[in-house]
Amino acid sequence: MYDVIIVGAGPAGLSAALVLGRCRRRVLVCDSGRPRNAASQALHGYLTRDGIAPAELLRIGRDQLRQYDTIDWQDAEVVEAECRPDRRFRVALTDGREFASRKLLIATGVVDNLPEIDGFRELFGRSIFHCPYCDGWELRDEPLAVYGRGARGLGLSLELIGWSRDIVLCTDGPPEIDADGRERLARNGIAVREDRVDRLEGRDGRLERIVFARGDALPRRALFFTTGQTQQSRLALRLGCEFNEKGTVRTGKYEATHLPGLYVAGDASRAVQWVVVAAAEGAEAAFAINTDLLREDLK
Ligand SMILES: Cc1cc2nc3c(=O)[nH]c(=O)nc-3n(C[C@H](O)[C@H](O)[C@H](O)COP(=O)(O)OP(=O)(O)OC[C@H]3O[C@@H](n4cnc5c(N)ncnc54)[C@H](O)[C@@H]3O)c2cc1C
Repeated sequence: MYDVIIVGAGPAGLSAALVLGRCRRRVLVCDSGRPRNAASQALHGYLTRDGIAPAELLRIGRDQLRQYDTIDWQDAEVVEAECRPDRRFRVALTDGREFASRKLLIATGVVDNLPEIDGFRELFGRSIFHCPYCDGWELRDEPLAVYGRGARGLGLSLELIGWSRDIVLCTDGPPEIDADGRERLARNGIAVREDRVDRLEGRDGRLERIVFARGDALPRRALFFTTGQTQQSRLALRLGCEFNEKGTVRTGKYEATHLPGLYVAGDASRAVQWVVVAAAEGAEAAFAINTDLLREDLK
């Protein structure tokens, strides 16, 4: 019986493991090795680590955790999780092995829904991004495209003007933006292209042009997209968690969920999806988990 099982060893899960391991809790960390930002070349906006390769951040994190004999590892996917009537959690790995714990932290992140456009996947993380806070600085004043529709396409286009004034919103079909929104785009110098996108062309990870179905091309240096995201695991759904409109788990104070003993931290929960925030949420959840355990153990 572990005190805590942590599913997911991205910044959220590793950060929670560090705090809990140092609290002398018996911790099991399970990870399937598919971080959201695997395609990214450099991680930005994390104080003291700005520009580091994402895999390097995880390597440093794991190395530092190895000195704690309170932490066990399973490099495997958790395929099942349940809360039993005695309030203990049970998780099962792909190979059928099972582990039990008093508390469960899900830190399994999300995956970005990438449009099925030729060239998109190849350029993702190198000159196609979803977050201007993460990658806008490197592309300041460059000719940029936004890919998206409706309120999200409108919002991302307007947000980007802090980084560049040369922006074209590509809606790949009807824009689904009302007259007021279109007027705001025009007022801010943002052009809209409704034409169907055929493919993205570039070289060595660098976007060069967007080619439309009717044959003409728009030269662009990078593209920011907003086409949604999906939870990377279905564990929170199976455990009955509630989700908000964005598809992330609704959590309360210190990342607690509706189910006592179950916490969800990092991109899988709530709003701002950055590495530094995921790490902070993991630490907060760990604080709450240790407090819960202590309360249960005190005589
Ligand atoms: C292209 C790109 C660039 C980005 N750039 C930046 C940036 O510059 N700065 C920044 O702050 N943020 C950036 N982000 C966002 C950043 O990646 C996330 O905010 C961060 O990774 C969230 O951490 P997390 O621990 O919640 O999830 P993740 O890092 O996604 O980690 C989740 C972990 O859970 C594991 N997992 C999932 N399901 C299971 C399961 N069932 N069993 C076991 N393990 C499981 C996965 O394998 C993964 O290792 C970027 C994202 C992308 C896509």
